[in-house]
Amino acid sequence: MLHEITKLHIYISKIYNTNIVCHNSLIAVCSDKGIHIIDYSYNLQCYDKKLDYFETMITAPKYSPVSELFENSFVKNGVRNSELVQMILDPTLWPHNNQLLNEMTSIAAFEWSPINFIGNMDSAIAVLTNVGCVELFGPNRLNWSCILNLSLLMKNNLKELSITKALDQTPTNAKELQEAAHALATTAICWADKINKDHSCYFVTAQKNGFILFWLLRCQEMQVEAKLIGHIESDLEILHISWVPLGNNKFLIITSDTLGKVFAYVCTVEDNLITCLTKEELWQYRDKMIAKHFNYIVSDENIILLYSKHRHFVVQMFDKNCKLKSQEVTNINDYKITDIKKGQNNFYLSTINNKLHKIEIHHNYNTLKIQTPLVEIKESYPTSELHGIGFSANGALCMLALIDRKVLWRKEPFKIDLLFLINSTNNHDFEVKAILNNPSSKLTNQWDNIEILRYKTMKTKMLPNLDYKQLLAESDIDIYNLKVYYILLKLYNNLESLCKNSSKGSLPETSVEVINDRIHASYASSCIENIHKKYKESNCILEDIDSETIYGAKAFLDYYCHKYKKGLPGTLDPSVLEIFKTDHQYICQCCDKEIEGFSCKSGHLNMFCSLTFTPIESDNYLVCKACGSLARTELLPNNPTCVFCDLFLSKNFNK
Ligand SMILES: [Zn+2]
Ligand SMILES: [Zn+2]
Repeated sequence: MLHEITKLHIYISKIYNTNIVCHNSLIAVCSDKGIHIIDYSYNLQCYDKKLDYFETMITAPKYSPVSELFENSFVKNGVRNSELVQMILDPTLWPHNNQLLNEMTSIAAFEWSPINFIGNMDSAIAVLTNVGCVELFGPNRLNWSCILNLSLLMKNNLKELSITKALDQTPTNAKELQEAAHALATTAICWADKINKDHSCYFVTAQKNGFILFWLLRCQEMQVEAKLIGHIESDLEILHISWVPLGNNKFLIITSDTLGKVFAYVCTVEDNLITCLTKEELWQYRDKMIAKHFNYIVSDENIILLYSKHRHFVVQMFDKNCKLKSQEVTNINDYKITDIKKGQNNFYLSTINNKLHKIEIHHNYNTLKIQTPLVEIKESYPTSELHGIGFSANGALCMLALIDRKVLWRKEPFKIDLLFLINSTNNHDFEVKAILNNPSSKLTNQWDNIEILRYKTMKTKMLPNLDYKQLLAESDIDIYNLKVYYILLKLYNNLESLCKNSSKGSLPETSVEVINDRIHASYASSCIENIHKKYKESNCILEDIDSETIYGAKAFLDYYCHKYKKGLPGTLDPSVLEIFKTDHQYICQCCDKEIEGFSCKSGHLNMFCSLTFTPIESDNYLVCKACGSLARTELLPNNPTCVFCDLFLSKNFNK
């Protein structure tokens, strides 16, 4: 059973079919105003019994690639009534009137790029509007800014391809105008499943005239270059498109069109050129029910495709040549299906009447069996409609987007309710055990579990049941356990400052400074070991930044061993320290005198890099968004992570 822990409202001015797309800790929700990006917190200091979050917004782009067709065209001299009606009914022709364009443009689709597309382990978000414009947005400080307007490049690229004559000259009548507009305007977008080795990524747009265009996008310094690298000609307007990787440079493009048909194009990519091998019909009936919410499972011999057709849920199993092996079409509960998303291990499906179903797929070589048990939700929302679902990285948090349809005679503004739910059958220890048993031994992807741990601790006023003495003892050899202990200690201190601590006395060490120093010392010694290894492998070449790091780490270990009267932490062999006789000098940023150890003679505090233990001398530096640890920008190409939180450090969080 799920229960609600936080509800947040997004106010809207008109009823709008919203949708959620989650990506790491970011949740993108669309409203009539644009896309709201919600980052649920990395804020361990939060005392609230609710989730904390940070919200930014991307307003719907008001650009249209079609606008320029109307400049100096025959439209200026007036059009027939029937043509004007057409121009108002067809959103891609709205740009004939700027006011209409500004007023009516809204978000039609938005998709996150694969991770690390814009470097620094960050992702961009591609946004498609209902007038057919595609723009890419990337994080910029605390905001999101446009990094590519793909629609701006559409005309020249299509002209070069010379597949449509409509763009060669200014349209002279309504038919030519429509043809040109339908070539320029996009109706569906999707990303490839992952980025290429050289950090570029494939992106697909379906144009309103039915053409599918393949783009190679490459991002450098927050600027994206786009190159057209293939196309498929088809004649029906595509409303949804999806990329299914098959391995060995092969992939499928699944399309859903206005007739209700579903096609798969088997494609290959070689030397960044995409060619289509065959076209297969996956759903042949012209039932006018548009296939939506494509999801897939690719196994060694089969491809399983999941999608919705209005009230019907379709699961199809194909072999690798797209020959149908088995299919199931079920009517879930006689209400419209609004979303299908993957949780941690299972797929989930939502219907407009507030029902969430788990999808259990049992399949072997050529048989398929589907079960869709209902997921119970403790609270009920009788006057609301469920429009979208989402899951956090480990599936620990479930997000629902609801719209309240109760008529209040405009006493209350319209709003989208974004609900965060957790599994109420998991006890208080569940999350901490999941964090400790994490096979990657990194906290990077554990922040949904950590957030729930914080929430439960604040709610129950106690820490989970755990042998804290043993955890701390084990952390001598395992820095990961020490980081988990550090998080628990911060939560413990929150309870202390609230004077409501039912776990009083359960922690063997309660000084943040001591644990902080211990983590840093363990990190310093493993850092020296790693550089030593690299040094041996590269025939005794020591890069400048490594040399500085060795110098800084040695100084820190000196300080640590002296302060706590301890030997070197971890497995570091003292003889390694003798190999490196590096010496560096740093100047205090306040008084220009030399820094000895970690401060100057006058005791001024300088900003120190938490990864190299050296002062930060430039105004440009990297920050951890959870704990605020700093690091030098020179480290950025190595995708550095925070010593305490394992989160990727970024320039983008500087306030
Ligand atoms: Zn000084
Ligand atoms: Zn951090």
